[in-house]
Amino acid sequence: MSETSVLVVGAGPVGLTAALELRRRGVDVVIVDRLPEPPQYAKAVGIQPRTLEVWDAMGVVRPSLDVSAPMHGQIVYVDGRQVMRLELELPEDVPYRFVCMPQYATERVLTQALAEHGTVVRRGIELTGFEQTADGVVADLRDGDDTTRLAARYLVGCDGAHSAVRKGLGVSFDGDAFPEEYMLADVELDWSMPGGYGIRASTTNDGTTTDMMVCIPLPGTGRYRLSTFVAPDLATSASGSGAVAHGLEGGRRPTLGHIQAVLDRLAPEPTRAGALRWSSVFRISHRLAGSYGGGRVFLAGDAAHIHPPTGAQGMNTGIQDAYNLGWKLALAVQGRAADGLLDSYDAERRPVGAEVVGRTVRHARQGLGAGETDAATAIAREAQLLLGYRDSPLVGEDVPHGGGSDMP
Ligand SMILES: Cc1cc2nc3c(=O)[nH]c(=O)nc-3n(C[C@H](O)[C@H](O)[C@H](O)COP(=O)(O)OP(=O)(O)OC[C@H]3O[C@@H](n4cnc5c(N)ncnc54)[C@H](O)[C@@H]3O)c2cc1C
Repeated sequence: MSETSVLVVGAGPVGLTAALELRRRGVDVVIVDRLPEPPQYAKAVGIQPRTLEVWDAMGVVRPSLDVSAPMHGQIVYVDGRQVMRLELELPEDVPYRFVCMPQYATERVLTQALAEHGTVVRRGIELTGFEQTADGVVADLRDGDDTTRLAARYLVGCDGAHSAVRKGLGVSFDGDAFPEEYMLADVELDWSMPGGYGIRASTTNDGTTTDMMVCIPLPGTGRYRLSTFVAPDLATSASGSGAVAHGLEGGRRPTLGHIQAVLDRLAPEPTRAGALRWSSVFRISHRLAGSYGGGRVFLAGDAAHIHPPTGAQGMNTGIQDAYNLGWKLALAVQGRAADGLLDSYDAERRPVGAEVVGRTVRHARQGLGAGETDAATAIAREAQLLLGYRDSPLVGEDVPHGGGSDMP
């Protein structure tokens, strides 16, 4: 049986971050993904300023910025009239701003950095089961018709919404699915909207939204990721295909014709769509794992929390889960972790996941910023800059320091 210190299951953005963080700290890692090739589509596009700070610390901010586009704000049209122009302003001392970067580019940057640390993702390998022993985990890995066993001291499940690791742990994933279906496409638009702004356009009837589209700028001239309600002929009821529980649906692909019809109804000016790169139908759910791990097994990313893409929070939250777990696991592997250090991962990150699930559901139902008192706080929260671990068991009480003359 082969051995490693940490087995990371899933080479999405979260698994890659976990593996890179461990490798940077000299820990021996195996990372597997059941897909034979990396996906060429992009669920996540929005990158938060806090994630860029994390990537700075991890040494991947420069290659990331090289393949991203700035996101200055959002312009909102309702019933053909511009009703808002939101500037995503942050205090001067915040080092990074909001950017957009397709998820496949994020995964490429992280994969490259991981390779520079000597670790290559083992593809086409699926975790089918695991058991915990007194001092580690033994995992069953299926490679085609063969199943091999790998012994690891720790296992990190970054295997997405349908996580086999979470199911193997018997951890709950409570929440629900939204009934609506959406479609999205990566296209070029020939409109004259200012670059670097998301464009949201909707129509209403008696205050109820009857139609809508959101276009998020991507790197490249005139490129956007457009999302909107699913076209009637692509809806589950029309296609007869089963509904997807969460995420992209591979079978039904919107065409340029579907996207053009949306633009003809909603674009603020006559606009042609072209150069369709990829498209998909998707659905969303909101769920939170009952625990972020058990024993020597941990969950991060979509394996632990899923929610609406409103405000571009999911992948960013997952990356920051992996960053939080990475240094703690490295110390544990090296025998330098204090008692309770690994427990602090759940204590610190699960409340963050719960807050994000609650906020994105609220925003999906009531609009971005619902529940906030002022715009500056709302923007800083979306940027994931208001996180803190005050209630973590690692954080002690405030102690005065300075003079110290009366200290023992
Ligand atoms: C339409 C849409 C738009 C979004 N936009 C944004 C956005 O702008 N910003 C943002 O932050 N988030 C966004 N998200 C959310 C974001 O895409 C997810 O949070 C992110 O992909 C989670 O990354 P992950 O690595 O946890 O999981 P995944 O990306 O799902 O990766 C999991 C990996 O695990 C592998 N795997 C699964 N099971 C096994 C197994 N048993 N053995 C081996 N490998 C396995 C899979 O093949 C996959 O590669 C969006 C989501 C959707 C649906």
